[in-house]
Amino acid sequence: MRKPMVAANWKMNGSDALAKEMLSALASTNLNELDVLICPPATLLHAFANSASCVLGAQNLSEHTAGAYTGELSAALLAAAGARFVLVGHSERRTLFAESDQALAGKMQQAIEHGLTPVYCIGENLQQRQQEKTGQVLAKQLAAVYASHPEFLAKSVIAYEPVWAIGTGEAATPEQAQQAHAAIRQQLAQYDSKAAAEVRVLYGGSVNSKNAAELLSQPDIDGGLVGGASLNAEEFLHICLSA
Ligand code: 13P
Repeated sequence: MRKPMVAANWKMNGSDALAKEMLSALASTNLNELDVLICPPATLLHAFANSASCVLGAQNLSEHTAGAYTGELSAALLAAAGARFVLVGHSERRTLFAESDQALAGKMQQAIEHGLTPVYCIGENLQQRQQEKTGQVLAKQLAAVYASHPEFLAKSVIAYEPVWAIGTGEAATPEQAQQAHAAIRQQLAQYDSKAAAEVRVLYGGSVNSKNAAELLSQPDIDGGLVGGASLNAEEFLHICLSA
């Protein structure tokens, strides 16, 4: 049985005050059947460290171990700050920061070597969907990591985030999302069939308190990766309760 996970990606938003609000909302409710993952900006990791009501994740990490990389954060530094998870390959990193498949494979390696669970993000853009290339794009993104390192799969979480649904208010329909998640799981089975059945695949892209229950009840959707709606503690809690 895969334990559901609801994750908040605050992106470049948030504050100590919001962290406090989120912590008290989470502490007020029994969410034991669920893993709640909070990925705040790195400067706010401290606000969540040692919290019993959530696990902590970073939004990015360096592909390098240590050294002269001004402005970067290594897996070891993030782990020391309390992170247990890290997002890898978010579409904003892929497009705005030109992160290549090769760099992402390095980030996955760093995360796993240092005991962080990578949340590997994949998804097609609008043009790719319209050209019916979604399956192909997802397969390529998965192959970039798991073809050479099938052993990483048992240590990963996957997030399917169609780029056209991120921040647009237009979530994938439950049917579209389920279809993609099933295809992802099927694709992953060639690398490690046991791990493919056990890996959690989260859906992200305009998840909110209204659409969460239906999306998250699909058989191959094991939770959500929530951007905008995670910046409101009450709404995020509502999404958690829908999982
Ligand atoms: P939104 O929920 O704001 O669409 O963002 C999704 C996302 O990118 C989470 O990583």
